[in-house]
Amino acid sequence: MRVLVTGGAGFIGSAVVRHLVLERGYEVLNVDKLTYAGNLSSLRAVENHPGYRLLRADIADRAAMAEAFTSFAPQRVMHLAAETHVDRSITGAADFMHTNVMGTFALLEAARAYWSGLEGEDREKFGFLHVSTDEVYGSLGPEGLFSETTPYDPSSPYSASKAASDHLAHAWHRTYGLPVVVSNCSNNYGPFHFPEKLIPLTILKALRGEPLPVYGKGENVRDWLYVEDHARALDLIAEHGRPGQTYNVGGRNERRNIDVVTRICVVLDTLRPETAPHGELIAFVEDRPGHDQRYAIDATKLETELGWRAEETFDTGIEKTVRWYLDNSWWWQPLENRYAGQRLGVIAGGKA
Ligand code: NAD
Repeated sequence: MRVLVTGGAGFIGSAVVRHLVLERGYEVLNVDKLTYAGNLSSLRAVENHPGYRLLRADIADRAAMAEAFTSFAPQRVMHLAAETHVDRSITGAADFMHTNVMGTFALLEAARAYWSGLEGEDREKFGFLHVSTDEVYGSLGPEGLFSETTPYDPSSPYSASKAASDHLAHAWHRTYGLPVVVSNCSNNYGPFHFPEKLIPLTILKALRGEPLPVYGKGENVRDWLYVEDHARALDLIAEHGRPGQTYNVGGRNERRNIDVVTRICVVLDTLRPETAPHGELIAFVEDRPGHDQRYAIDATKLETELGWRAEETFDTGIEKTVRWYLDNSWWWQPLENRYAGQRLGVIAGGKA
């Protein structure tokens, strides 16, 4: 099986590449622009594997994508490349429109041109998985869950750009028949997560004895999924998902942000008692503009149709994650010159 993965040097993409190459024995072409979020050291486990190749390219570069399809001849595409940090999208949305919207468009067009030239079984078996987020659905109140039929209602420039890309992906199926499947997943966490996101940011700041910023009152709820559970779900959806369908992915692990940060502090108190209690470092800061209150996923369709189950609970996954950051400073220390933990996504003199 030859799989073209985009964004394979990112957090989830690298978990997908490691899973496909090492667990499944697939051949992978990783198409990645290597932005600030792309990190080849996340792929150390596969970099010398004969089944792995890297193409450093922008997915919005149509000529480069056409060439990638022709030369690699993928049987499957898993599209994860994106700009992904909500706070950065508030500070500057241009890169989000370029990659998430125009990049997805360019990739769909390249896939369509390639797939149109296939015949017989090659054409029948070809598949394109577009990987997206539950943030496209907007915000929930205290009750209810997002399902595959929840109307789109994105709040941030990031989620609006992902919503646009999801619509393009579905349209390329409905209009051209391209066998596209879309997945919408809740918040991921785990090893190799860039330190601008809540969980790694909290772990690394706590290790340095710095204040642990919690937006607003920390009441916002996210539904957390361990990244390797997501990688397995994506593999399953790419293989068995029905073209034209959406599959929601989530771990049934809702937590308030303050509870996530507190839990990390408790785990660190055990693993690093010399700097305990870490909870004293928690500092409430100005909220994010347009901050969605609650996300929660109903993953019944994925569970019943494709038989997927998350293997980690939040407590087992967070402990693994904290241990991983403690044991792998070789991975995160070099990133500190790319991002030093500063606040992003605050609008000067504006709403926030
Ligand atoms: P990430 O920010 O860690 O990595 C993104 C990768 O895409 C990087 O390697 C980057 O170099 C690459 N990239 C960016 N622009 C590119 C371009 N123009 N051309 C080629 N490569 C480019 O992202 P992630 O957290 O791993 O998310 C992967 C996908 O999963 C995204 O589509 C995201 O929307 C989706 N998703 C993420 C989460 C989450 O919690 N992180 C949850 C649900 C869905």
